Amino acid sequence: MNLPENFKEIIASKKGFISDMDGVIYHGSKILPGVEKFIKWLKDNDKRYLFLTNSSERSPRELSQKLQRLGLEIEEENFYTSAMATAEFLKSQCPGGSAYVIGEPGLVYALYEAGISMNDYNPDYVVIGETRSYNFEKIEKAVRLVIGGAKLIGTNPDLTGPSENGIFPACKALAAPIEIATGKSAYFIGKPNALMMRHAMKKLGTRRAETMIIGDRMDTDIIAGIQTEIDTTLVLSGVTTKEEISQFSYRPLFVLNNVGDLCV
Ligand SMILES: [Mg+2]
Repeated sequence: MNLPENFKEIIASKKGFISDMDGVIYHGSKILPGVEKFIKWLKDNDKRYLFLTNSSERSPRELSQKLQRLGLEIEEENFYTSAMATAEFLKSQCPGGSAYVIGEPGLVYALYEAGISMNDYNPDYVVIGETRSYNFEKIEKAVRLVIGGAKLIGTNPDLTGPSENGIFPACKALAAPIEIATGKSAYFIGKPNALMMRHAMKKLGTRRAETMIIGDRMDTDIIAGIQTEIDTTLVLSGVTTKEEISQFSYRPLFVLNNVGDLCV
């Protein structure tokens, strides 16, 4: 990789790192090369860090336990999910509000933590996250509540996600029937919505210039960094290939093979 002369200087000057997970830290049940070295480097150099995911299904504790099973020690407070960003957003828009949720426990838990209560009668919001317990009754209820005035929110704008058998329909695909039936468009919170990055930075307690975003996708991670004016590093351990970078109208600040190359 061609790195600028001041690469080391820039990395060393960053106090906070916001890193994507799938394709950066792990893929499936495999830890990617350089990750152990990177986590040790973060800890040894007193860097603040957050591992970010657009998935709303798992709580930070469950994510911490998942990574522990793969052999990585990362504390609960170092995770940030689209469920947490959604909860933060609803809290700021409608403190003490209520929601009807189609999603997994990780989402419901994050909403409770933010003081949002569950309500399937006259909620302020209908919130859609990814879940396997999606069915006609829930869609029907969501449609009625949105027509009745509830605002429609999606935790993340992904259309599909990767699975062992190919792809699965993700949040935006699950929200689509409700949008079509009601004629209302959902507002989606997760990456590349800059809101998620701003909330993550607030949690990290760093300023823009002190922060670095690390991701494996130009169309979600890198664009999210660019839109929030945070320096970006693309790693080639996931979705975007080196050849694809030039097809985008924007570029990351740095391109590295994996996160291990960040350890300066
Ligand atoms: Mg990724």
